[in-house]
Amino acid sequence: MSNELLVMKFGGTSMGSADRIKIAAKLTAEQHATRPVAIIVSAMSKVTDLLLDTLKKAEASDSEGLEANLAALTARHLECAKDLLPADRQDAACRGIEALTAEFTRIARGMLLLRERPPKSVDEAIAIGERLSAFLLAEYFNSEGIAAQAVNAATVIATDAVFGNATPILDATRERAAKVLRPLLDKRVLPVVTGFNASTLDGRPTTLGRGGSDFSASIIAAVLDAAELWIWTDVDGIMSADPRLVKNARVLPEVTYAEAAELAYNGAKVLHPRTLAPLAERKIPVWSKNSFAPHVPGTRIVPVIETGLGPRAVTSMTGIAMVSIEPASAEISGTKVMAEAIEALSRSGVELMLITSSSYTQSFCFLIRQSELDRAQEFLQQSLALEIAHGYLKPILIDKEVGLLAVVGEGMRGTPGLAGRIFTAMSRQNINIVVIAQGSSELTIAVVVHRKDLELAVQSIHEECGMGRKD
Ligand code: ADP
Ligand code: ASP
Ligand code: MG
Repeated sequence: MSNELLVMKFGGTSMGSADRIKIAAKLTAEQHATRPVAIIVSAMSKVTDLLLDTLKKAEASDSEGLEANLAALTARHLECAKDLLPADRQDAACRGIEALTAEFTRIARGMLLLRERPPKSVDEAIAIGERLSAFLLAEYFNSEGIAAQAVNAATVIATDAVFGNATPILDATRERAAKVLRPLLDKRVLPVVTGFNASTLDGRPTTLGRGGSDFSASIIAAVLDAAELWIWTDVDGIMSADPRLVKNARVLPEVTYAEAAELAYNGAKVLHPRTLAPLAERKIPVWSKNSFAPHVPGTRIVPVIETGLGPRAVTSMTGIAMVSIEPASAEISGTKVMAEAIEALSRSGVELMLITSSSYTQSFCFLIRQSELDRAQEFLQQSLALEIAHGYLKPILIDKEVGLLAVVGEGMRGTPGLAGRIFTAMSRQNINIVVIAQGSSELTIAVVVHRKDLELAVQSIHEECGMGRKD
């Protein structure tokens, strides 16, 4: 038996039904027989969406919709417990599930009364999805004779107080993990940790952003000095494009941390964008694997690959907005406007995904998520109020009909003519480029196009750069 800890994370589809949970348990048990294992789980597929929708209904005083969602939530988990567990364990499991759904119900009904949805309470409420799935999987292990314990990550991962998108505090997390997880591992009890959720230093519940269970797993792997992290999902690994969009997308056997992070930040949903950061210092290798095809090796994510391989993948992202700001008069310095705008965005906490400027008109534009647009506008209007009132600035333009794609690959640094190929591919399809940007790392070329052109642009670049399977 090796001492080397393996951390494994199972995503929503890998936890989506009793059958899937049994497979996750089998994959875990195989490893647990030879080395210590800790697992992190997502909520069952679509459950986080259901929880968020329920809270929106509560705020909107839709009590009928709220009750229907609560019934669906409870029924799905009770049914899963019945399919998963032997008869003599079902009563206790059903009581456990009802206790958790009752916690959610209490918060949701509170929001209905107050007609408010405070971010702090949202985080506390939506953690129930992962607490339910972790509970079910731990019960299943125990029923199979493998000692396991569901662990609420609020007792393990410490974060700042940015509800909905919290950032971990690693030193405090390391201390908590030593107290909560080490004793379980030492006793060979398998910890089944909830993904996605955490808590502030003073114990208020937080979450790590949508898709955040990948990030939970990497945080836990880092603070426990794990030997490896395996992320189980529903595709064969990190691919040259989203396989739902590009039919001949191929699995990349190896990618670097930097490539994986660029892909994730630019829309490849297969990894949460912040997953790689906690692992970089300790260089813990990560595998992305398919729980529906466990024999396929998957993608290994490593610190460096010796030879750069040119453009390797193309991502796409929707749900974004382009904001353009242009001075109306020469009396105002474009640089000063830009500085004020960026300062306002920084205070708002809105993430800037791309920015470009033009030297002659001193105009500039940037890309943000549509979900953050209202907040960004509020801060920009406030900070640029004087310039707007004096007519020094043209009205701020917002374009929501855009999409982002990014071509990523370590070897792009030394590949002359690559931008030309990307443009050729798009011009052949009559696709207009709205904005183009290349980061200083030269790992990524990002292009903004009209939303209607996004899919075709991705497909034609994938084809032109020969990224796909050759068969
Ligand atoms: P999980 O629930 O396991 O976390 P996600 O749905 O978050 O899984 O991520 C997996 C999905 O990411 C895949 O089903 C796939 O459609 C999508 N995806 C987007 N881009 C890529 C890519 N480049 N490689 C692999 N999958 C991708
Ligand atoms: N359940 C959370 C979500 O759907 C976190 C995750 O699945 O990674 O966003
Ligand atoms: Mg995910």
